[in-house]
Amino acid sequence: MDSMNSPDDRTRELLRLIPQVNELADHVMAGTGAAGLPRRIVMDATRNVLEAARASILENRADGQSGTDMSMEALAEEVAVVARKSFEPRLRRVINATGVVLHTNLGRAPVCREALEAAVEASSGYCNLEYRLDEGVRGSRHEHLEPLLRSLTGAEGAFVVNNNAAAVLLVLAALARGREVVVSRGQLVEIGDSFRLPDIMAQSGAVLVEVGTTNRTRLSDYGNVIGPETALLMKIHQSNFRIVGYSEDVSLKELVELGRQQFIPVVEDLGSGSLVGLEPIGLTGEHTAAESISQGADLVTFSGDKLLGGPQAGIIVGGREYVDEVRHHPLARAVRIDKITAAALEATLHVYLDPELAWSSIPGLRMLSEAPGVVRSRANRLKRMLDREQGLELEYTVVPEMSRAGGGSLPTAEIPTYCLSLFHPTLSGAALEEKLRRGDPPVLARVRDECVMFDMRTVPDDEVPALAAAISSIA
Ligand SMILES: *Cc1c(COP(=O)(O)O)cnc(C)c1O
Repeated sequence: MDSMNSPDDRTRELLRLIPQVNELADHVMAGTGAAGLPRRIVMDATRNVLEAARASILENRADGQSGTDMSMEALAEEVAVVARKSFEPRLRRVINATGVVLHTNLGRAPVCREALEAAVEASSGYCNLEYRLDEGVRGSRHEHLEPLLRSLTGAEGAFVVNNNAAAVLLVLAALARGREVVVSRGQLVEIGDSFRLPDIMAQSGAVLVEVGTTNRTRLSDYGNVIGPETALLMKIHQSNFRIVGYSEDVSLKELVELGRQQFIPVVEDLGSGSLVGLEPIGLTGEHTAAESISQGADLVTFSGDKLLGGPQAGIIVGGREYVDEVRHHPLARAVRIDKITAAALEATLHVYLDPELAWSSIPGLRMLSEAPGVVRSRANRLKRMLDREQGLELEYTVVPEMSRAGGGSLPTAEIPTYCLSLFHPTLSGAALEEKLRRGDPPVLARVRDECVMFDMRTVPDDEVPALAAAISSIA
């Protein structure tokens, strides 16, 4: 009797009570909790739940307690919850109330309706991705995009790859493998945690020659290192930082002049890159891809999903001979785009043929250019929706704030905006933020002191009711 009651015996007894995996899974499948779920999902969930149950029994052995209900019913219920949760898509739509328009962690630019429709159309059935319908012969997937990009940038040739990092890698591999590329030290950027120009350069087989200092590079610095091994002069957009104060940089024009004199092509990595001038949102320091070409850059690379507002892509435009070298490099095949991207990008570029339409139809451009008064009225609409909910334990008010472009573009640009600032009498700002982030739909917002700030610049009209519901549900 005594030995039966020792903690170890109790543990053994409890472990014996745990059902077999198949037995429990069958029980779950027969019930309603896991209706419609594949057996594989239920089996995985069953194993996980039983393992946790076993661990909890062993953990509690020391004090002879067991906090877990080991009955078949209780375990089955737990399995159903775990299985349902694991069957939900991991990639979910979220509400971006951070005010960061191009948020890399949140998928960067939302794409326009035209792009979505084109992607569905091209991929729901077959499409002429590499087929010339007029001639009945094999074509190239790049033929659909090149005329549009030539028209929009004035370049002789264009080629599109998976992303801008791939574009830079491919350009360097095709034009500078085993030779030297001259770059200013002030432009050796790291973007996010994964794009470092020196690393990309090394992978391409090109040799980086750094010139100047972090804050000052002169034209003569480039001139001094040019030699027989120099393959390219390269200018890289600083993207996510700015050097201010005592600084000096060489303009693209000056670099092109030097390149022409020395017969060395000039490549510009625009990073975000834009197909429309950004003066309408008060930014004068940025030039468009077309301006880079007209200033004489031999090749220009930029992203499809930053300011452009299209699918993830890397766009290369420039002189015919250089684009052809890039196109024929073996790496080009490894970084080629798929039909969904090609269709979505073609439709996005179509919108840009009318710049005014681009400002109103491309979601990122629309958000960046929306007048503060319009953002304020949306913040007020959210406030009125919360007012209508009875007995919310919340305090909230509409306040002026600043939004950011984000996504490695326009790092110093601050755009006047309006936020709904939310305060809870007992929950901290961080606790409020966590509840919203883990809700359905998840809401991402900024925490300021003990308040959560919802920047309404990045919350479109049709998401306001869902945001109001999310906020009410935590109150
Ligand atoms: C963002 C960026 C890249 C990388 O572009 P992806 O499309 O993210 O691959 C490269 N260069 C610069 C300057 C950038 O800003």
